[in-house]
Amino acid sequence: MDEFSLINTYLKSIPHTRDDVIFGIGDDCACLQVPPEMQLLISCDTLVENVHFLPTWDAYDIAWRAVMVNISDVAAMGGVPCWSMLALTLPTIDDAWMQRFSCGFAEALNRYNIALIGGDMTRGPLSMTLTIHGQIPKGKAVQRSGARAGDTIFVTGVLGGAALAVDALTTPILDEQDKAQLMERLLRPIPRTDLGSILQHYATAAIDISDGLSSDLQHICKASQVGACLDQSMIPMHPLFAKYKQDQALDFVLHGGDDYELCFTVSPQDEKNLLMELTLQGLTCYPVGVIEKNAGLRMRGPDGKMIPLEARGYRHF
Ligand code: ADP
Ligand code: MG
Repeated sequence: MDEFSLINTYLKSIPHTRDDVIFGIGDDCACLQVPPEMQLLISCDTLVENVHFLPTWDAYDIAWRAVMVNISDVAAMGGVPCWSMLALTLPTIDDAWMQRFSCGFAEALNRYNIALIGGDMTRGPLSMTLTIHGQIPKGKAVQRSGARAGDTIFVTGVLGGAALAVDALTTPILDEQDKAQLMERLLRPIPRTDLGSILQHYATAAIDISDGLSSDLQHICKASQVGACLDQSMIPMHPLFAKYKQDQALDFVLHGGDDYELCFTVSPQDEKNLLMELTLQGLTCYPVGVIEKNAGLRMRGPDGKMIPLEARGYRHF
């Protein structure tokens, strides 16, 4: 099998039902129809063996996770994901692996009505670069730079679960059910595309929590030229911290990545309407702190004492 039959067998065959794909895989470029009232959001992510996934993982899971991580970036802008490109580097042609990979890829795309529209195929150490294209109404993209002093900081869900799962890869957790629940959190992150319209209406800034709350919130602060104060007792923790790693729970929750929840800010005058809208849509978000004028991160402990907070999520270099 050469690269062309690999593309035809496993990737060109991935179905979609989008009528805005004029043509996709098979030509020098894909051709897409973007409605005049919309803007295009584009983002890419590279996943490398032993850094982002282990070679022992099911290729279905690797593909699934890669797609979700990619979608999360579009969700963080308040947009809707539409089209995906896949640049795949493989050491050899392994049919069984490719079968699982394309199956996970197809099901993940299908869940969000995304079309695979092209990519590239090369030989080398296993890695993949996914590019996601999304749409957002003109001028509605939520950037990192819009947070203002006084804004409330929200997160969209419990944190630390994925980091606890990563830890459990090396420190065995006894209870099989708990382990399965944590691995699900790591392998099957759910990108928060359900908050798109809410972010567009209410958020002054937003980011997805890929590297950890402290470092991702710090990105908002730097881009917005503000600081932030978190309230320790308000930060929602994964429920299994009641059972495992209690002494390190705060570290996991503040600095552990891979949860793919969102962190966003809302001005105080919009907060009441936001909470009403969340209730109407059956969604829960958690206020965890406030944006302040002074740069840097701080945290109010349970005793009311303020402590400086270091931004130290995952860094590649
Ligand atoms: P080119 O030589 O013009 O770069 P390629 O031979 O790399 O074209 O690819 C042929 C077609 O297959 C193109 O439409 C490309 O987008 C698509 N393609 C290549 N690799 C992938 C992939 N991994 N996933 C999806 N489509 C792919
Ligand atoms: Mg090519």
